[in-house]
Amino acid sequence: MSGTDRIRKELKRRRGDLAAELSRLTEPPAEGASVGFGKRVGDGTTEAVERLATTATARSIASSLRDIDRAIAKLDDGSYGSCDACGTEIAAPRLAALPATSLCIECASAQSVSN
Ligand SMILES: [Zn+2]
Repeated sequence: MSGTDRIRKELKRRRGDLAAELSRLTEPPAEGASVGFGKRVGDGTTEAVERLATTATARSIASSLRDIDRAIAKLDDGSYGSCDACGTEIAAPRLAALPATSLCIECASAQSVSN
């Protein structure tokens, strides 16, 4: 098995985990799951905070899924390992640590600043 096959397999495995996690987070709460435990009417603050945290988590998972899809597409078209923004080869240690990345470290840090 070649190196890219191994990466592809790993990315697909991770993609499956994230997709399962995302659907778990975004599915509506089970009927009656949050009632009981002396919950008062109007005591929605904790719930709202939890919902916000869930939304943030779901958003970050969705963004990881996009990265993984992009990395798999790059494996398919043979551009895996080169930066989407500037075309530079992405450093091997960075790819090893973040196999789903499609940006070199310079472009990634430039992007996170502008976000
Ligand atoms: Zn770059």
